[in-house]
Amino acid sequence: MTTSIRLFPVFALLGSALFVSSAWAADAPKVTSQQLAPQLYLVKGSGGNIAAMLGKDGALIIDAQFAATAPLVKAELDRLQSGVSVNTLVNTHFHKDHTDGNAALAGGARIIAHQAVLTRLQSDAKFNQAGLPTETFSGEKTLSLNGQQVMLRTMPVSHTDGDLVVWFKAQNVLHMGDLFFADRFPFIDLNSGGSVAGYIANTKTILSQVNDTTKIIPGHGDLMDKAGLQRFLTMMEQTLAEVQAMKAQGLSADQAVTKGLSAQWKKWSWNFITEEKWIRTLYQA
Ligand SMILES: [Zn+2]
Repeated sequence: MTTSIRLFPVFALLGSALFVSSAWAADAPKVTSQQLAPQLYLVKGSGGNIAAMLGKDGALIIDAQFAATAPLVKAELDRLQSGVSVNTLVNTHFHKDHTDGNAALAGGARIIAHQAVLTRLQSDAKFNQAGLPTETFSGEKTLSLNGQQVMLRTMPVSHTDGDLVVWFKAQNVLHMGDLFFADRFPFIDLNSGGSVAGYIANTKTILSQVNDTTKIIPGHGDLMDKAGLQRFLTMMEQTLAEVQAMKAQGLSADQAVTKGLSAQWKKWSWNFITEEKWIRTLYQA
């Protein structure tokens, strides 16, 4: 609880992209992990989901949650592999609930991200610059550590203009960052280069690359699978069609919000992306 009290005033001052941060910080002060494969874990706490691959070379971690949560994440990693230190940190995108803990978690280790992540974090006066990415790339990049190959792939504009996904190929595990919200309306950061069309297109691309046994880590929410990602795509396509039909009938955004989506989509609404916010996002598509 002290975590959320500390974090809220900081994040409440920042822009809409970061409002998600305070929402996440408020409801998840403890850190837990779930094993997905030998030496590969989903670590949940306060902020975006972390993936951690452990081994003799140290930890590869995907995303960093908040600085205030970092000691808890470190303690959890140490519980999983005594004395482990972070070898490499990868950021799926720039949002605070995925990068605020960079400096605290990486502790000087290399940090890899899309070029746009570095650009945005460099220009953010509130970001701890010790946590800036040390390597950027676009396209594909393969990491080799702990006897494993892990593939990073940048994606076309979608959630933001600097998204990447991480493939643990041998384990058939995929971390999608905020290109996937588990069974809830997604946040598409239109003010940071995001795109509804791009978001839907990327979902289709990923769907064509996973299979029925792929374990998919969403940016937020519980571990998902191909069926869950298909459900997410169907929701986005059908709600977009509903909003486009309302636009075609001449309804304003406010009128579309008043009319609402059909009842089957109500359960996708949540505290950060309500039905109203989702309709307003789709209305701009
Ligand atoms: Zn995000």
